[in-house]
Amino acid sequence: MSKSKLAIDGGKPVRAHYLPYGRQMIDDEDIESVVKVLQSDYLTSGPAIEQFEAEIAAFTGAKYAVAFSSGTAALHGACYAAGIGEGDEVITTPMTFAATANCVLYQGGVPVFADIDPRTYNLDPQRIRESITARTKAIIPVHFTGQPAQLDEILQIAREHNLIVIEDAAHALGARYKDRSIGSIGDMTMFSFHPVKHITTGEGGMITTNNPVYYEKLLQFRTHGITRDERKLRENHGPWYYEMQFLGYNYRITDIQTSLGISQLRRIGGFIEKRKQLAALYLQELSATKELILPHQLPEAESSWHLFIVRLQLVRLKATRKTVFQALQKENIGVNVHYIPAYLHPYYESLGFRKGICPVAESCYEEFITLPLYAGMEPEDVLDVVAAVKKVIRHYSK
Ligand SMILES: *Cc1c(COP(=O)(O)O)cnc(C)c1O
Repeated sequence: MSKSKLAIDGGKPVRAHYLPYGRQMIDDEDIESVVKVLQSDYLTSGPAIEQFEAEIAAFTGAKYAVAFSSGTAALHGACYAAGIGEGDEVITTPMTFAATANCVLYQGGVPVFADIDPRTYNLDPQRIRESITARTKAIIPVHFTGQPAQLDEILQIAREHNLIVIEDAAHALGARYKDRSIGSIGDMTMFSFHPVKHITTGEGGMITTNNPVYYEKLLQFRTHGITRDERKLRENHGPWYYEMQFLGYNYRITDIQTSLGISQLRRIGGFIEKRKQLAALYLQELSATKELILPHQLPEAESSWHLFIVRLQLVRLKATRKTVFQALQKENIGVNVHYIPAYLHPYYESLGFRKGICPVAESCYEEFITLPLYAGMEPEDVLDVVAAVKKVIRHYSK
């Protein structure tokens, strides 16, 4: 193996063009589907929304699905439907995008961060148990990178303490846990359709649930707290009549977006299969690189592989994570870091959260690098990333 000069030191980059860490896959059918809606009577509140909801419900095996303008809006809706209110504590993971905890704050609740399992990077059930108080109302596990959290253990804790489980499955459309689809297991499950996720609507999200009471609340929350349902009206002045019964939001998604979602969902099987193949190739090609810890999969959890994260063994390296990260960027590899522990953000610090709450998550954060992974990549792209990773790691190895 030639000792080629790193691009960061002026050498030739492994790739001539930048490879992003994630991106959407749009084909002609997607475009046709959107154009058809643009030419139709309904740009919003039309039939494409209900169709997308029905198809996501069928895909996940849930009874009901409610689409929202974003995954974050969907999580907010789930917290409302779960009855999270002033002072209620909700246990969640710090190893997530800020939105997971923010939705608790929107409702006046208190996020309580429990530490993660150092093998799977998912919430550690034992740490959840230790975080329960008389004020605990719900648990929000995140299926981090697409690997389902330990749902049996989490649901058992929830049953014992009468807690609601809201799954943040923004990473996990198409993932399975003990042969059940994510989306049909907990009380409510959130999916996101941001362009880096498995399928996209531009912006968009969904809650799936088997519970008709949550379903009704979610529908009403999404549209200002307004209902036209005759069974629910206090009065009825005539056919035009509707009532706003609680303070909801305009969190509706459009038919333009959901028509894209419907078209994208037709290809979900292929998208997931491709991600699995690419992840398997990464695992195979990087298994002998002792400076890296590769993602560990529990036998009962079948990941849908949203992210491929490697953990640097910094004791074996002469460089910091920042240097390795910058060197890979210069090789034209679009690496990323997921995530800055939520409570380390300045806003959370202003609420009183401090470094040290979840030491495992904090040390993982110091060592994580996310490698590119999306359905539009080819095996050759993975091999480019692997070549760049090996080039950089070898250079900085002790
Ligand atoms: C993407 C994401 C969200 C938020 O979804 P949006 O659709 O971007 O609002 C929440 N949680 C996690 C873990 C995510 O990855």
